[in-house]
Amino acid sequence: MSELRVRFAPSPTGYLHVGGARTALFNWLLARNRGGTFILRIEDTDVERSTKESVNAILEGMKWLGLEWDEGPFYQSDSFQLYKEHVQTMLDAGKAYKCCCTAAELEAKRNLAMQEGRKPKYDGTCRDRTDLPDSQPYVVRFRAPHTGVTSFDDLIKGTITFPNEELDDLIIQRTDGTPTYNFCVVVDDASMKITMVIRGDDHVNNTPRQIQLYEALGFPVPEFAHVPMILGSDKTRLSKRHGATSVIAYRDMGFLPEALLNYLVRLGWSNGDDEIFSRDEMIKKFDIRNVGRSASVFNTEKLLWLNAHYIKYGDPERLADLLLPHISKRKVTTLGGPDLMTVVKTLQERAQTLEEMAERAVFYYNAPENYDDAALAKFDNDHLMAVFEAVPRKLTSAAYDISGIDALFKEICTENGWKMGQVGQPIRIALSGGTQAPGIGEIVVTLGVEETVRRIQKAREFVAAKK
Ligand code: GLU
Repeated sequence: MSELRVRFAPSPTGYLHVGGARTALFNWLLARNRGGTFILRIEDTDVERSTKESVNAILEGMKWLGLEWDEGPFYQSDSFQLYKEHVQTMLDAGKAYKCCCTAAELEAKRNLAMQEGRKPKYDGTCRDRTDLPDSQPYVVRFRAPHTGVTSFDDLIKGTITFPNEELDDLIIQRTDGTPTYNFCVVVDDASMKITMVIRGDDHVNNTPRQIQLYEALGFPVPEFAHVPMILGSDKTRLSKRHGATSVIAYRDMGFLPEALLNYLVRLGWSNGDDEIFSRDEMIKKFDIRNVGRSASVFNTEKLLWLNAHYIKYGDPERLADLLLPHISKRKVTTLGGPDLMTVVKTLQERAQTLEEMAERAVFYYNAPENYDDAALAKFDNDHLMAVFEAVPRKLTSAAYDISGIDALFKEICTENGWKMGQVGQPIRIALSGGTQAPGIGEIVVTLGVEETVRRIQKAREFVAAKK
């Protein structure tokens, strides 16, 4: 079997969305699985809609996900000469022809066909014309076969057959000399020696035309795998209406790339009942033939679940690096505060996203300005004062570890006849402002004794002022 060559060919008319990312992922996985080559091609022939910002956003998304490409990025806009040459080859071989029909003529013919209940298809006026006027603007049309069928065995969808009579004589070059979309795709895929085209199933209808063009140009036809689309929870095509669809928006919301990749690989593909796949496992197990035929529904809950998993088991040092921008975004500085990696360790057990983790990390760096009144109101002020005095009195050493703190709090409870919750909750409120915080031992060790005592004293003053 020849070497596998696949490509991801986004049009730079927007950011990298999750659907595109999944297509890229499937291509990348297959290339890595089979020792093939993964090519990135930017399809920017639509000059009006393509932007440099979109190209950058796409590259940024790919890099963040770690979908590194082996060749490219190639830009279609750099290949106009190549397309022109192939148009000429087609003309010279009689496989394409010039057509001078004007827009108004075509419009009139289309209307007539509609009125007569026929399919509005180019009627072939110029197909065999030999008297084309030299001076008139022309398009170049593909001399498509009008009988028989064009058929292909899609690796996901099975055999798909189109009757050729339904396919038009496609315009391959416009009057201004620019090539059209389907023609460029074929010339590119052929010149890049692509052996398998994996793309969204919105391109199924382009495939028979493209196959005919491959054949006319004398190029080998690649294999095709059309990936079913992603739907929103209401079963319509996933779009902005359903929330974020941009890969970078997921990064900014605090998702880890490995969680998004793991989520995307399972969207349409399965390997038994397995849910968690590291990059290496995905590469080892991925097979395009196991991609399902039906559309998949995007499920944010599941993505959150996977993200929580990867946060929980993630390397604290790396998580700290990834967390930092989420903290800085809150105008909080970690300078002079506890070591961020230690903070991460106290929070990774429970955070679903890095945003959530950042939100919960803030109290380590900014002492609470306010306290959760409802939580404080569960205790009477005399008890709070007693706790806020007893604990600092006992915190005498500077070097406790978590079990040391736990033991100390047990001791305080025994000495005063308190239950753990009667001490733990007030202290948690004093240290963090609320009750949603890690274990007391973790907080005290992370903040350090000095800062802990300072915060408890501040809370004590707050309660004293209320008395
Ligand atoms: N540029 C096309 C798109 O973004 C992909 C074309 C292809 O993969 O053949 O939908």
